Amino acid sequence: MRYRQAFLGWVLATLLLPGATIAADADTVAHYSERATALLRDAIGRQTVRGAGNVPAYAATLQDVFIEAGFSPDALTVVPYNDTASLIVRYAGDGSSGRKPILLSSHMDVVPADPEAWLRHPFELQEDDTFFYGRGVLDNKFDVSILTTLFVWLKESGFVPNRDLIIAFTGDEETAQETVQQLTRDYRELIDAEYALVVDGGGGVLNDAGEAIQFQVGFAEKTYATFSMTAKNPGGHSSMPRADNAIYDLARAIQRLEAYQFPVETSEITMTYFARTAPLLDDEVGEAMAKLVSDPSDEDAIATLRARPEYVGTLGTTCIPTMLSGGHAENALPRAVTATVNCRIFPGHTPNEIMRELQRAADDSNLEWSVVGVPVSSPASDFNTEIMAAIGAALEPIHPGLPIVPEMGSGTTDGAYFRAAGIPSYSLSGIFINPKDSFAHGLNERVPRASIAESLRFWRAMVDELATNKN
Ligand SMILES: [Zn+2]
Repeated sequence: MRYRQAFLGWVLATLLLPGATIAADADTVAHYSERATALLRDAIGRQTVRGAGNVPAYAATLQDVFIEAGFSPDALTVVPYNDTASLIVRYAGDGSSGRKPILLSSHMDVVPADPEAWLRHPFELQEDDTFFYGRGVLDNKFDVSILTTLFVWLKESGFVPNRDLIIAFTGDEETAQETVQQLTRDYRELIDAEYALVVDGGGGVLNDAGEAIQFQVGFAEKTYATFSMTAKNPGGHSSMPRADNAIYDLARAIQRLEAYQFPVETSEITMTYFARTAPLLDDEVGEAMAKLVSDPSDEDAIATLRARPEYVGTLGTTCIPTMLSGGHAENALPRAVTATVNCRIFPGHTPNEIMRELQRAADDSNLEWSVVGVPVSSPASDFNTEIMAAIGAALEPIHPGLPIVPEMGSGTTDGAYFRAAGIPSYSLSGIFINPKDSFAHGLNERVPRASIAESLRFWRAMVDELATNKN
């Protein structure tokens, strides 16, 4: 309830805002847009995929960019981790606000891309009139380039914030997510902040006509957890088959999991998301969202949303088998067969709780279960009216009156680790894109060219809102 009251309070406050932030002048924005584009071009050429060892050189290049802009080498820390690295940059403020720093984070690594499968080479920045293309052009080298350029712009214009601003670029967000854990564990004093703005995900949503319809801010993420379920059997020779067979046992358990659905769950974040998104969609999905807001047990609405892969995760925990392995020879009865089940757990449940629920659903006490890796749970971040008001003011000159919508991500980003370490974390980006054009992790990843200038204006205004003294 606290959350809803804060949210309504903020909605009222935005109506009383005296005026928008001063827009940055067009020539300056054009100049820094060119520099951000040059950084993006350089970044896309680097295959910062897991195991390639290219992140440290990328971090070193960015380090030079900061130094050239006037940052002292003391303000920069490269933190190596195996064959990757993080880069931390501190922009010293004058301390006049008496407040802890603001942390801005993005990641330098990307998921792999197969040049054979792409229309354009993934590790070369390509462009047409509307888009830039390349692996990482959206997730997340765009925002690394924007944040770097933002700090350069602020420094070159002699700006002094009223509190420190910190950038943390991590090095393995797409895979192990260990660099962020290293930072929160071993480098806390360098990244400690009142809150983190995770510039990866969230941001502006365009409709098919190219109009901005909403701006999303991530307040929470589901817990990512993976389980393995193994059927065992004494085995034997396939010329002497028996009725009991590990593959049959596992197959039956998988079918029971298929038939099982986790209960529907809602939270203030998801209900506010539905309430604010419903009026923007003039289709059955919008209708279903509106029905669910007035009656969270409406079965038709639940069925409609559950049938959509992009919304099923907002209604509760989901688990799905993703890998199978088993058997050891084509002429032997299998001794062990394993299914891997990946879950996205609704905030408020532990991975163990969900594993027990899966065990009940699989209904075979001979199966062996285990947790794969270390799941990370993170609480939802508190509603922060100051950040929401700043976003509203920063968007005003670009997209006046745009609805700002809190959301819960179904993936796990570095933000989950900041939250777990006690640093409230909000995901947002200055990118405006039609979800249909979002090919992050997929083929032909792209980002609208217009987002470069818009993002710079947006983040410059955000810093003005959050890190200057207002009278
Ligand atoms: Zn990302």
